[in-house]
Amino acid sequence: MNNNLGFNFDNSYLTLPTTFFDIDSPAEFPEPCVAIVNENFATEIGLDFSSLSSEEKAKLFCGNLIPEGTSPFSQAYAGHQFGNFTNLGDGRAHLLGEHLTPEGVRLDIQFKGSGRTHYSRRGDGLAAVGPMHREYILSEAMHALGIPTTRSLAVVHTGETILRERHLPGAVLTRVASSHIRVGTFEYAAATRNPDNISALLDYTVERHFPELAESQTKAMCLLHAVMERQIHLILDWMRVGFIHGVMNTDNVLLSGETIDYGPCAFMDRYHPDQVFSSIDQQGRYAYANQAPITQWNLVRLAEALLPVMGTDLEACAKEAEELLISFEQLYQKAWLQMMRKKLGLLGEAADDETLINDLLAYMQRAGADFTNTFRDLSTADHPTITDEEFTAWYLRYQNRRLQHGQSIEHSIALMQSVNPFVIPRNHQVEEALSETENNNLGPMLHLLEVLKKPYDYTQACESYQSPPEPSAHIYQTFCGT
Ligand code: AMP
Ligand code: MG
Repeated sequence: MNNNLGFNFDNSYLTLPTTFFDIDSPAEFPEPCVAIVNENFATEIGLDFSSLSSEEKAKLFCGNLIPEGTSPFSQAYAGHQFGNFTNLGDGRAHLLGEHLTPEGVRLDIQFKGSGRTHYSRRGDGLAAVGPMHREYILSEAMHALGIPTTRSLAVVHTGETILRERHLPGAVLTRVASSHIRVGTFEYAAATRNPDNISALLDYTVERHFPELAESQTKAMCLLHAVMERQIHLILDWMRVGFIHGVMNTDNVLLSGETIDYGPCAFMDRYHPDQVFSSIDQQGRYAYANQAPITQWNLVRLAEALLPVMGTDLEACAKEAEELLISFEQLYQKAWLQMMRKKLGLLGEAADDETLINDLLAYMQRAGADFTNTFRDLSTADHPTITDEEFTAWYLRYQNRRLQHGQSIEHSIALMQSVNPFVIPRNHQVEEALSETENNNLGPMLHLLEVLKKPYDYTQACESYQSPPEPSAHIYQTFCGT
């Protein structure tokens, strides 16, 4: 296909040893049809599809028309899934290529649901309409919330039916990511038992994401440190908005620090630290409050994979890595406290801030308080209407603390409103919008996407999206959607 769309491909991943990828083409889809294209995002990254007919767009975004200058491929990786090591790879994804934006930013453009690959194992390589639109909504919502994430450029309905627990319409999502280098990619490299593969991936990752480490004599250790910092920031963002990823397997952890893979993820309505939505997470491994400890566990897997190239004295390197990873807990706790202070509009530091914060959370848990609305209510100038005795006593302590450090209420409120969203993609509303997409009615989804664009601004339009679900509409489980 003639490339007058702004694509500027440079597939640097293909300079890695060939064990890391497989050159491969998406499946043929006889009757693809465009459901949605993220035109604003396309413009931001230097792409323009206005010259294309809708048929051409459909073919482009299901991988059936390949722009000049690239050649699709799938990536190899491994991963610990719910604690168990497995070799995986892109079983239903093809990278169209790496696009360099006019600003020189390198982005992976990837199709998800685009057919079988070398790595498909027993899977059909396909995806259903619902989960692909779900990823579109959630990734765009996360971006609007200011949280690092992969983005969504388009969804195409393939016109084919795929078999899951029932027959479902198929779809392909075009995902855009800073890269798809995962903790599981390093685990894959380590599993080849060839240190040259690990070194090659290390050099490549440093050059792509952490060029400031390129000259370091202890590159692998520095990378581990830098990735740990990014992961801490990411998890804190999730905790701040009540996001539960649901499948924090090591193949779903990107070294770039972006959120990836919106399978059974969900935002909490009622606060509970043990909240789990995913139907496949029976043990609560990836529950809300477990997300930081699991991240530390995932980083240990990265450290193990990097160890063979960390230095000559393996024992000393292992000890240093262990100490670094132990420091995760303190670093995270400190950053969490700081994040929670912002959510409550507390400037400066007071000795009993942690108790004050934990007491509120304990009350919220007991009362089944809505996570988003509780913090939003606290960030309006009015006194909350809650009459509960425990809450009233807490609120008094809170007001006193808030006026310490010479801070004004206005300043406190401004701080709170910058970190506490008014609207989040609530599960029941996302599900409602998605059920319509199966019938090709995209209206509710487009409306939801519009409201989610400015989650920190109060608008009339967002009012109806602020309500927690009625008990009958409460969603207790989400499904992986593979
Ligand atoms: P996920 O749970 O989406 O992170 O996927 C885990 C692994 O399963 C990845 O290697 C996917 O490529 C693979 N996978 C998921 N669904 C399918 C499918 N329908 N066909 C082939 N592979 C799949
Ligand atoms: Mg995945």
